[in-house]
Amino acid sequence: MGAINFTGRVLKNLFSKPVTTKYPFEPHVFKERTRGHVENDMDVCVLCGLCQMKCPTGAITVDKKEQTWEIRPFSCIQCRSCVDQCPKKSLSMAQEYQEPGSEKLTKTFPLSDAQKERLAEQARIAAEKAAAAKAAAEAKKKAEAEIKSE
Ligand code: SF4
Ligand code: SF4
Repeated sequence: MGAINFTGRVLKNLFSKPVTTKYPFEPHVFKERTRGHVENDMDVCVLCGLCQMKCPTGAITVDKKEQTWEIRPFSCIQCRSCVDQCPKKSLSMAQEYQEPGSEKLTKTFPLSDAQKERLAEQARIAAEKAAAAKAAAEAKKKAEAEIKSE
């Protein structure tokens, strides 16, 4: 019985398609959920810094002054925490793995010019609102002081 099973298995393996890919002659097809490396869309990122705070290995650095987002790929463990926590959904997990190398690589991504303009405009509007609120509070305080002094 065992010999029949064994022969059947041998024959099946002889005439069936190989289960492995003939790499490098055939390109490797990544599975849909493969965690290769982290990508950032710098036209969407707002440099809030949440990804840096949530990264367990300290692989990310957000520099608001320089308006850059950096990642050290060899420190990344592909846990996806940053991708899941990003409030703007600007981070994504690409399928291709980081190429190996002998140097500790740092990838720096500057904000896109369009995003720089959008953030500058938002900051200007916020500053105007804050100034208006401060002026209103001071005017109210002055009016109250005048009523008291009468
Ligand atoms: S990638 Fe997302 S979480 Fe990180 S700084 Fe940009 S917007 Fe914030
Ligand atoms: S995937 Fe995980 S380890 Fe890699 S940068 Fe994001 S939070 Fe850090």
